[in-house]
Amino acid sequence: MTIVSNIDFHCHTNASDGGLSPSELIDRAYGRGLNAIAITDHDLTAGVADAVQRAALLNAKLLNGDADAPVETYIKENAEVNGVDNGELHRAPSERTLIVIPGVEFSTTWYDEQIHIVGLGIDPNNDSLKELEAKLKVARTQRAVAIGEKLKRLGFDRPYERCCEQAREGASITRGNYARLIFQDGKAKSVDDAFHKFLRRGQDAYVKSVWGPIEETVEVIKAAGGIAVLAHPRRYKISNMRLRKLVYEFKKAGGEAIEVSSSQQRQLDRDYLVQLCHKYEMLASLGSDFHNEGFHRDLGQNIDLPSDVTPVWHSPILERYGMGANFKQRLVHITYKKEDATSASE
Ligand code: AMP
Ligand code: MN
Ligand code: MN
Ligand code: MN
Repeated sequence: MTIVSNIDFHCHTNASDGGLSPSELIDRAYGRGLNAIAITDHDLTAGVADAVQRAALLNAKLLNGDADAPVETYIKENAEVNGVDNGELHRAPSERTLIVIPGVEFSTTWYDEQIHIVGLGIDPNNDSLKELEAKLKVARTQRAVAIGEKLKRLGFDRPYERCCEQAREGASITRGNYARLIFQDGKAKSVDDAFHKFLRRGQDAYVKSVWGPIEETVEVIKAAGGIAVLAHPRRYKISNMRLRKLVYEFKKAGGEAIEVSSSQQRQLDRDYLVQLCHKYEMLASLGSDFHNEGFHRDLGQNIDLPSDVTPVWHSPILERYGMGANFKQRLVHITYKKEDATSASE
């Protein structure tokens, strides 16, 4: 079974390693029934403005009842809808409007581990934020060029240039961009396989990265008016004890939330993150980490928060965007019949 949530606070555009432009991402969000989305590209906020603008246009179309207003398209003919929590399957146009939360996913280094921190509700024009973005841009470009040189020696054609051509101008180039290129060139069976063969620590195109400290990053997110969220904590290869230390230090630095629910996460892992939310009194966030069509994560897919945590959108910071305690997560439970299993990406 697939669950589709109307709230998704972690996704990427082609301003970093996502495959869709900010406008295309927003169109997809309406198509998948979302009501709130945070744009969280790696280390920059360049995609936010276009996304906000696109959503303003489409919300107006919905409220005017325009013929070309967005429609929900994710429930296919061969899908069985098993239930809807907190709402109806078919909604009035006003119930289909979309809130865009300006966000970012900052890279940090914590004891040799790459830790990602999502900032939600940040002001993209804040000076400290812009300063950190500029600093990371230099570090990212240097590393991307170095990875490109290694791949070139391994026989790839203009790897850095082609990554840049595929992304938006000025995009943050990550290993995600390279993984896609390697896959497209037929040198790996999947994006994940490209990582394993070339890009992860110990492989031929690996280049070590040292990002800024957690403390500085959280401080910048707060200075820019946002909430700092510890992204996908179960994806780090660290023990439970290290993870507790990480959450403790993240909170001490001013971090306020944990991404409790992400796509392709085991129930066991989500349960553990719920426990950490209770123990360290943190808010709970959720996000698919969507990058591209055709891979296993999609907007709103298989992310949900249990009722015994406080959702991050209850924070006064997100109340400003029209969320708050009355905002309800709506979950559509769907079973796709076999023939459509691939597009359902269960
Ligand atoms: P970087 O920040 O340059 O090290 O790149 C990190 C990005 O690469 C992540 O945000 C993902 O988009 C992508 N990534 C990391 N690990 C994998 C993996 N095993 N398979 C596919 N993509 C990955
Ligand atoms: Mn990525
Ligand atoms: Mn990440
Ligand atoms: Mn991400």
